[in-house]
Amino acid sequence: MHEFDLIRRLQARACGGAGVSLGIGDDAALLQIADGQQLVVTCDTLNAGVHFPDDTAPYDIGWKALAVNLSDLAAMGATPRWCTLSLSLPQSDAAWVDAFADGFFALAHQHSVALVGGDTTRGPLAVSVTAMGVVPAGTALRRDGAQAGDDLWLTGTLGDAAAALAQWRAGSAMHADLRARLDRPQPRLGFGIALRDLAHACIDVSDGLLQDLGHLCSASGVGAEVWLTQLPASPALIATHPADDTRHRLQATGGDDYELCFTASASRRKRIAALHADGTKATRIGRIVSGEAVRALQADGNAWRPPRNGFEHFAD
Ligand code: ADP
Ligand code: MG
Repeated sequence: MHEFDLIRRLQARACGGAGVSLGIGDDAALLQIADGQQLVVTCDTLNAGVHFPDDTAPYDIGWKALAVNLSDLAAMGATPRWCTLSLSLPQSDAAWVDAFADGFFALAHQHSVALVGGDTTRGPLAVSVTAMGVVPAGTALRRDGAQAGDDLWLTGTLGDAAAALAQWRAGSAMHADLRARLDRPQPRLGFGIALRDLAHACIDVSDGLLQDLGHLCSASGVGAEVWLTQLPASPALIATHPADDTRHRLQATGGDDYELCFTASASRRKRIAALHADGTKATRIGRIVSGEAVRALQADGNAWRPPRNGFEHFAD
């Protein structure tokens, strides 16, 4: 099978979308955005063995490659619209591409995202997606708007994906519910949009809560207190990690959660607590303070020193 046959297989699955004047097939796509909107663009790559275990099913690789990008759009409060897909494959394998496309398009259709172009090359397995969305001009959620005194919130639960990855690294079977969180992150797009006029600042948690919250705090010139005992955990995480210390470490410093961490004025507390979107809700996990330190507090109020704040490429 040749490059062009692979592209045709993907093209056959890509349906048109709003604003697509010209999709796959020319040298570039033509996209139309409405007056008064801003285009929101993000790009994330998944490398085999780095961003997913080597034995990950092609369906899940397809899902996750799009999901991590939609999570970035969610963190900006954007409505997703279009994406491109750059595929590097060790060999031309139609069955693999079809299964990959099943996962990719399952999520794309759920959120009305149109695939409008990409690139297909031979090389080590890697998937790079560029996702595009729109926001009413001036309403995007950003990292730099947090204010001392804000409540600190988090959607969903933390730590499941990191727990699954730890099981995989240890050579043990991954708990099915935990593995599902690792393989099929759910971008919190409904929350992102609802938060446009409620939140002061927002970031998606991909590399560990404390690390990503640190980025939000330095962009905003503030510090934060995180209440470890308030970090939401799934039933599967509680069942597999009953000891607080390990569970808190996974929740505060693990990665691959793809939840939204955001700040808002205390006057919004009731409205945010009542929000239900994306099959989940938000939990208040701390507060924004002046200064620049991000501190995780234990039940007794003492600060907890994590072995590391989160995941970093090139760290060693
Ligand atoms: P060019 O050589 O001009 O870059 P290509 O042969 O790479 O064009 O691609 C032909 C068309 O197919 C382009 O519209 C491109 O966007 C699209 N395309 C290529 N690979 C993919 C892919 N993996 N997913 C979606 N569209 C793709
Ligand atoms: Mg090309």
